[in-house]
Amino acid sequence: MINVPKGTKDVLPNESYKWQYVESVARETAKLFHINEIRTPVFEHTELFQRGVGETTDVVTKEMYTFKDKGDRSITLKPEGTAGVVRSFIENGMGSGVLPAKMYYIIPAFRYERPQAGRLREFHQFGVEIFGAKDAQTDAEAILVADTLLKKLGIRVKLYINSIGCPTCRANYNRALKEFFAPNLDKLCYDCKTRYEKNPLRLLDCKEEECKKINAVAPSMLDYLCEDCAKHFADVKECLTQAGIAYEINNRIVRGLDYYTRTVFEFVSTDIGAQGTVCGGGRYDGLIQSLGGAPTPAVGFAAGIERLLMVMQQTGARLPEPETPTVYLAGMDTECRKKAFGLAAALRSAGVKTEIDHMERSIKAQFKYADKIGAKYVAVLGGNELAEGAVSVKNMLNGESEKVAFDDLVTYFL
Ligand code: ATP
Ligand code: MG
Repeated sequence: MINVPKGTKDVLPNESYKWQYVESVARETAKLFHINEIRTPVFEHTELFQRGVGETTDVVTKEMYTFKDKGDRSITLKPEGTAGVVRSFIENGMGSGVLPAKMYYIIPAFRYERPQAGRLREFHQFGVEIFGAKDAQTDAEAILVADTLLKKLGIRVKLYINSIGCPTCRANYNRALKEFFAPNLDKLCYDCKTRYEKNPLRLLDCKEEECKKINAVAPSMLDYLCEDCAKHFADVKECLTQAGIAYEINNRIVRGLDYYTRTVFEFVSTDIGAQGTVCGGGRYDGLIQSLGGAPTPAVGFAAGIERLLMVMQQTGARLPEPETPTVYLAGMDTECRKKAFGLAAALRSAGVKTEIDHMERSIKAQFKYADKIGAKYVAVLGGNELAEGAVSVKNMLNGESEKVAFDDLVTYFL
């Protein structure tokens, strides 16, 4: 037997409605904010992610699905959504079109991680990017999109925000961080020693207990923000307050990806512990230029769809009922089944969700099956009905039955 690859999952026909629900709420939310969908390829040139996600990130150093294609090109399955969208923004000259350019995506993403609950090798993200606007209101708007989605889905979260400044003020902060960590260097984990050299800010992101302890008393970026960055952060907070969104400042949030500037944020479930981060994002003013575009400010976020569903299921958040047929047409014998097949075709072309027997079951077994699949009505066709040109329609909720002529059947269910 061939199994599904480690860290991947099938979404089976009896659970896909949950996914479709989350996706449709995400699409609706995007529409509310005048955000249209962008679709980019599942794979890109490896270099895009090396440059766009950052050489020092876990994603690039450890987690990418990279391979050579038959033309000897290095290809990578996208580990996140932003780099591909930025490539497309530049390649399609969107910077000289209508700004801000707002777009959303729903994508599979691939990361070679140790699989566990809420952590997969193929997972899915809903993400939003807004290009061309540098004002704090846009950061708040990105946060508001995510907040609206989470509220619609009934997910209780805490919003953590932070500012990691601009390259200028961050350089001072990185120096301060290095001074702080220098005496503790031998106590840090192996990865953090590299981070110390290459990108000290990332030390704050470490999940190792020992490193977390040391991090707890590290200097805060917020004390190092330059005047412009401090003003920007204050404005973001004011916009959030205007919109009635509660937040908590958490100066340990730095995000895993290299391209962030100024505002960074995470929404964390208040109901589940591990893997409780359902959504993360921030501003990335440097990315577009670093990938060869004109300097363009940008802000965005991505929410993990598996994590949203995991939290919803664990907290009993409202999910829609699975799809069920309106009517099940039961046929007594071969003749009746043929007629039922024709009636079913007419019902379906009129838009009525209809199911029929495919297993040559007895009438009793057909009723049982209709009940199991949740059909709201069962229309029975026996020898008498065939002669009369009518079906007996039973309402499965209240048990009442009535005769309906073949010609009236479609209108009966409309
Ligand atoms: P984490 O700290 O949990 O590893 P991250 O910083 O790597 O998260 P991002 O790159 O910001 O995550 O991705 C955005 C969202 O995608 C996360 O908040 C999470 O909901 C989801 N996500 C990230 N990695 C995975 C994964 N391996 N499996 C499932 N969902 C994931
Ligand atoms: Mg990660």
